[in-house]
Amino acid sequence: MPAVIMKTCPLCDAVPFHIGRDRTGRDAICVQCERCGLFSITEQALCILEPKQKPLLSAYCRRVPTGPEAPTILSTNIEELIRTLPEYTPPEKLDNLLVLIAQMTAGLGDYTTFSAKRDYPLLIARDADEVTFLRSGLTELGYITGTNDGFLVTLDGWKRLEEIRKAGRASNRAFVAMWFHESMNTLYNNAIEPAISKAGYHALRIDRHEHVNRIDDEIIAQIRRSRFMVADFTGQRYGVYFEAGMMLGLGRTVIWMCDKNELDEDKLHFDVRQFNFIAYESPEDAKTRLYNRILAIEGEGPGQFQKPG
Ligand SMILES: [Zn+2]
Repeated sequence: MPAVIMKTCPLCDAVPFHIGRDRTGRDAICVQCERCGLFSITEQALCILEPKQKPLLSAYCRRVPTGPEAPTILSTNIEELIRTLPEYTPPEKLDNLLVLIAQMTAGLGDYTTFSAKRDYPLLIARDADEVTFLRSGLTELGYITGTNDGFLVTLDGWKRLEEIRKAGRASNRAFVAMWFHESMNTLYNNAIEPAISKAGYHALRIDRHEHVNRIDDEIIAQIRRSRFMVADFTGQRYGVYFEAGMMLGLGRTVIWMCDKNELDEDKLHFDVRQFNFIAYESPEDAKTRLYNRILAIEGEGPGQFQKPG
């Protein structure tokens, strides 16, 4: 039985803290590894696992938040789990590494506890060597300094981190989260898009047909790159709630909108009712009020959003 003879982590070959039978009674093995985190994998999945899939699954398992149930790798979900991972460009990887090093630093001038050997899955890297390569890039840029025995973020590095944080803020794009149904076209074409353009921003509308109603990496990346979000809740779509929640989590402005009739009928989920909604009566009304609201966010600092009205 693999659970008995296995000595190393099936994903990264490190010696794990724990290897044992999955306690839920599935035909699976539960592994607790310092690189890959806590996960379960079925014996069937173990049999078909390809070497190139291992670092990606390791990244998946380590990056998902630990909830009540650990991620489970099945023979049928390997590709699906891998597909959820974002693909970063080399400059994005450099930034991500800098952010991670800083997150694992207690305070200014302290050494980081980040370890390429242990933490490479967090960067979706192939192995520790890839991270070592990126690390030398950060050293050349002057963002970190030190040796293998200890390294830290320089003042230039902290400046760069500030730039990364503000990257979304400097953007001229506005993400539009709404129900993309033909009944909403007039609102978009005559109110939302013109109000955003008039205020000097570019409206970003993701074509739902391409994304089959899925909140995928492309949508998440576009949200991250946007200065603010216009979220119209008319039609009560789950995607709009998710996207607005994500934007709030990023500490950026969400402009809340809804058809007045739906607001009056109390259709909004109670979680969002405290926000200052633009309850419009017509596209013309929506356009004017949205435009004014966009101008109002200019004075806000990062980390703030609409206060209850
Ligand atoms: Zn592992």
